[in-house]
Amino acid sequence: MLLRPPQATSSAAHTIGARATPLRALAIACVLTFISATLLVVGAVYWSANKADWATEQRLAQTVATALKESAAKIPYDQESVAFWDEAVINTRNAFNETWVNVNLGVWMYDYFKHDQVNILDANNHVRYAMAGGAQVRDPAQAPDAAIATLAAQLRQDIAAGALDLYEAGKSRVPRAEDIAILDGRPAVVSVMPLVPHSKEIAQARGTEFLIASVRFLDSSFVRDLARSRLLDGVRFSRAGDITSREQSYPLKTKSGEAIGSFAWTPQLPGTDILREILPVLAAGLLGIGMVITLLIRRLRRTYTEVVVSESEATHLAFHDTLTSLPNRAYFNDRLEDALAEVSSGRSQLALMFLDLDRFKQVNDTLGHAAGDALICEITARLQSILKPGDVLARMGGDEFAIVMREVKDRMEVESLCGGILSVISRPFDVLGGQAVVGVSIGIAIAPAAGLDRSELARKADIALYQAKKNGGLHFEFFTEDMSQTVQQRRDLEVELRRALDSGNEIEVVFQPLYAAAQLELSGVEALLRWNHPRTGPVSPYTFIGLAEECGLIDQLGDLVLRGACAAAGAWDVDTISINVSAIQLRKGDFAERVLDVLNEMGMPPQRLEIEITESTLLGGSDASARNLKALRAAGVRVSLDDFGTGYSSLSYLMRLEVDRIKIDRSFVRHVGKSAQSGSIVQAIVTMAHAVGVTVVAEGVETREQQDFLIGIGCDHLQGYLLSPPLSALRMVELVAGKKTHATDSGIEAA
Ligand code: C2E
Ligand code: MG
Ligand code: MG
Repeated sequence: MLLRPPQATSSAAHTIGARATPLRALAIACVLTFISATLLVVGAVYWSANKADWATEQRLAQTVATALKESAAKIPYDQESVAFWDEAVINTRNAFNETWVNVNLGVWMYDYFKHDQVNILDANNHVRYAMAGGAQVRDPAQAPDAAIATLAAQLRQDIAAGALDLYEAGKSRVPRAEDIAILDGRPAVVSVMPLVPHSKEIAQARGTEFLIASVRFLDSSFVRDLARSRLLDGVRFSRAGDITSREQSYPLKTKSGEAIGSFAWTPQLPGTDILREILPVLAAGLLGIGMVITLLIRRLRRTYTEVVVSESEATHLAFHDTLTSLPNRAYFNDRLEDALAEVSSGRSQLALMFLDLDRFKQVNDTLGHAAGDALICEITARLQSILKPGDVLARMGGDEFAIVMREVKDRMEVESLCGGILSVISRPFDVLGGQAVVGVSIGIAIAPAAGLDRSELARKADIALYQAKKNGGLHFEFFTEDMSQTVQQRRDLEVELRRALDSGNEIEVVFQPLYAAAQLELSGVEALLRWNHPRTGPVSPYTFIGLAEECGLIDQLGDLVLRGACAAAGAWDVDTISINVSAIQLRKGDFAERVLDVLNEMGMPPQRLEIEITESTLLGGSDASARNLKALRAAGVRVSLDDFGTGYSSLSYLMRLEVDRIKIDRSFVRHVGKSAQSGSIVQAIVTMAHAVGVTVVAEGVETREQQDFLIGIGCDHLQGYLLSPPLSALRMVELVAGKKTHATDSGIEAA
């Protein structure tokens, strides 16, 4: 994934705002799903309940219809039990016997079949007998009720049409006419049937038949039966249409379809009952689910917010330096690309500036890392204070910064900014109670003049920085093509050095003898490296040692010189074998261990080895350097301070350091005997060194005069071309074998 840094000042809130839409969409989707599910569940429950209610109502209506049908069908059956009966014909048509009729056709029908009324009509349809509610009606009206009269007339018509003939021929049942009608204002089933003989013994002329008319009211016993046997709660008959909304009704119609009222009852609806019970539970359940969803959405929102915040923090961390919050290298490169794109469109120029602090390491070592951090922050603030708003400042690493200066008009503008930077950085800093003074070196490359490719431009700014540092710090350099050549040469040399180390026969160790001043007797040797390049000839150690330090080859060289020295000089009759050790080697945590391992491997007692380090190595060294020195000294290795006096350190301070020997730099030695001042300095050094038990070597002794002077002031050992230049191991063997006092006397040539 390509992670792009945020362009504007990135705040988590801004990022959350920008990304809240998917969360909101998710929340809306959740809520909509919940509402849809709720509607679906509630709808399904309602639908099921209604369906159950509807089925119940259908069933109840069917029940009433069946009961009515059964009731209407039953009365003619009841009547059949008395209607075709010889006795009935005899006691009615032949000679009307009121008592017999009352008992057999009236009260009997009431008692046995629950017929509410019975009328016996003669051939003229006049009421000859009437029973109501189980008792004979005295003096009934001659004309029957209109409904009975209508049915009687209809029956007689049927008889006249031959209905009885069919019955007598066994082709149909006794003719009858029945219907539902309103009688005395009450709904009733009315059935009229002729009274006919059941034997051939009695003859009855057509049209002379008496009729029995039975009435069963539907609003009394019928309704009670319905309520009891069919479980119809509160069933009643209504003519007025006063049906309440909670009641179900069934219309009562005559055969001709005339509605004469309805049965109404309050149905027990299972769906509604279930709904009544289930709804509160359902509502509570849905409310619970709703609350859980709300909580989940909130939780999701919080988690999402946290993720977005930590993501934006991670993005910020990925592109910013944690200490200063400045853009880091990755982000800087990105911004530089953007600025170069502007430049390539021909609108402006830009200056890429690489800054490297001088003496920052000393601050870290002397005042501590916290002070170093505070210093970096303070430097950041000072740099920011003099930059234009559009410029980009980044921290590229420990004490390295970079600036993209945009919209550059001319070189003077860049020079002016660099001057400002040198001035603000060279002012002392107050950090954590201490005072620090650092410098800065600046390398500059200008686009488009130096190119438009980011890496190319950075390479050139780097070369310019390298040059600025070489020129002594507190300095800025614009990139020039010459510098590029220097760097290229250096690169070529690095390749050559690697090749030389691999080949193993170009680099050798030579030895420069040291003499005890008293008798000018050989007392030790200093191992020095020589690189004889097959094409270009000897390369100065100052050049290739510095190069090896920069490109990480110094350990390999250190190993080579130590092994070379042990192998060659181990057998020589000399007190000390000295090797030079650079600060970078000494800083490695396992340096002492490795040296002691080699000594052990080569069978050389540590007491014979002396390591030469410089003042700056000793003073600017890290904890690891101090530990290595301590371990080596504890094992018996001696330590000598090389190039003494060149580091501008306080002499009295240096004397207190744990060294066995100091080597007075040849820049002092050169003038002794000529300049009184140099003489006094060297004398003071010797006196002070002796005072603290440290012996003194004078290096670079080239003249007799110098030698005599140095011997005169009590210098312990001498080294220099006068006594012997560095010699190859072979020549050293001859020298040692001859035990000559010094090489120049022996006529041995320099290596
Ligand atoms: P140094 O350790 O101060 O070595 C002494 C340098 O002075 C040697 O230069 C030597 O040839 C030179 N010299 C000796 N006597 C005289 C004299 O009378 N007059 C003058 N003008 N010069 C004299 P060289 O061999 O070119 O070494 C230069 C520096 O390179 C050494 O300075 C040392 O710092 C470094 N070096 C050499 N070999 C090694 C090594 O194996 N390891 C490390 N780390 N540095 C080395
Ligand atoms: Mg030396
Ligand atoms: Mg030296």
